[in-house]
Amino acid sequence: RDTVSAPSDAAAALSVKSTGPGAGRRVLVTGGSRGIGFAVAKRLAEEGYVVAVNGRNAERAREAVENLRALGHEAYALPFDVTDRKTAAEVLAEDVALRGPFWGVVLNAGINRDMPLAAMSDDDWDDVVNTDLGGFYNVLRPLVMTMARARKGRIVVVSSVSGMVGTRGQTNYSAAKAGLIGAAKALAMELASRSITVNVIAPGLIETDMVTEENRERILPLIPMRRLGNPEEVAHVAAFLLSDGAAYVTRAVIPVAGGLV
Ligand code: NDP
Repeated sequence: RDTVSAPSDAAAALSVKSTGPGAGRRVLVTGGSRGIGFAVAKRLAEEGYVVAVNGRNAERAREAVENLRALGHEAYALPFDVTDRKTAAEVLAEDVALRGPFWGVVLNAGINRDMPLAAMSDDDWDDVVNTDLGGFYNVLRPLVMTMARARKGRIVVVSSVSGMVGTRGQTNYSAAKAGLIGAAKALAMELASRSITVNVIAPGLIETDMVTEENRERILPLIPMRRLGNPEEVAHVAAFLLSDGAAYVTRAVIPVAGGLV
């Protein structure tokens, strides 16, 4: 594989679908049915990867796949709830048995339930921690050995600037997202000798369903670039981290946040 190409070659490669940098490689995108995850799935599919689109809502994951196929890309739905450890393990084991190990995993599924700690419910805490952090274990535990045996691959974890700095009203979310950074850095150490990289993207405020009007009004003045990011800007960084060119980048945390951190 040619890992160093002139910019014009790289641009040309990106425009060729099934022969792009991802040709012959399969990537799982959790929470790939909408928002940032869908933008990542689309970008990777455009680069020739076969994309397994996960989401809680099976119908929505299938619709996302239909959209990608309509554009001429290769994708299939792999719906399951990332908090459901048993189902996740079964679905992933079956998929790997059928298709072989994944080249990459983009661990993106996440939720928020913002509330000051004093008013937070047990469910607000548990749901966020079990989804955003628990998903790391439930999805990667069944896959890591299969990737390690292949001695190649990429893991990209979508955390948040909230996990880096702590955000008011988000003790649950900040804890889970900070936990992800620790877990990813530890896993990077475990997998480095197998040529598998593990990196973290920490988005700032990105234009998706997750952003409330209240958060937009409060956070926008704090963003040096004075705008929200768009999902494609996160997808671009994920695509880089999945690529051959990022082979020596591991244990890194990359903010995509317009200067917010
Ligand atoms: P969205 O709410 O737009 O999309 C969330 C995605 O995650 C959906 O595909 C959803 O699937 C999926 N999902 C949620 N819970 C589960 C679950 N239990 N099992 C499987 N899939 C699940 O969110 P964003 O695109 O904005 O966020 C994506 C990631 O980026 C999250 O981890 C988020 O924390 C992080 N992030 C987002 C920021 C932002 O400003 N938007 C900022 C920083 C980080 P379904 O459609 O089935 O519900």
